[in-house]
Amino acid sequence: MIDGIHEVTHVETRETAKAAARQSEGNDDRLDKVEATVKNLSVINEALYEILVAKLNVNATDLATMIDQVTANRITRLEAKSTCRNCGRLVPALKQKCMYCGGDLLNEVIRSPFD
Ligand SMILES: [Zn+2]
Repeated sequence: MIDGIHEVTHVETRETAKAAARQSEGNDDRLDKVEATVKNLSVINEALYEILVAKLNVNATDLATMIDQVTANRITRLEAKSTCRNCGRLVPALKQKCMYCGGDLLNEVIRSPFD
């Protein structure tokens, strides 16, 4: 036997489950699109690498060396700190403004177009 309170709870639970199922379907669609985009970018990267091999005599060692260098450069940029002109706190240098007070930052960090 279901009383009024349990009936309301049951309906709310069913609606919550339906909403979760809809959200999951949406996430599946977005994940499919992201996977397709990553696959496409991977094909483009491989094609560009093959052009470099054919036209500029680049080899796999050159590619591996550059991957290591780019990875190290990204880590350096991500870990860099800058000082706020307003409050003096250290904040991640890649931020446009101080995350504590919104002030301008003292140190200009060389940014990459890929940041
Ligand atoms: Zn600040």
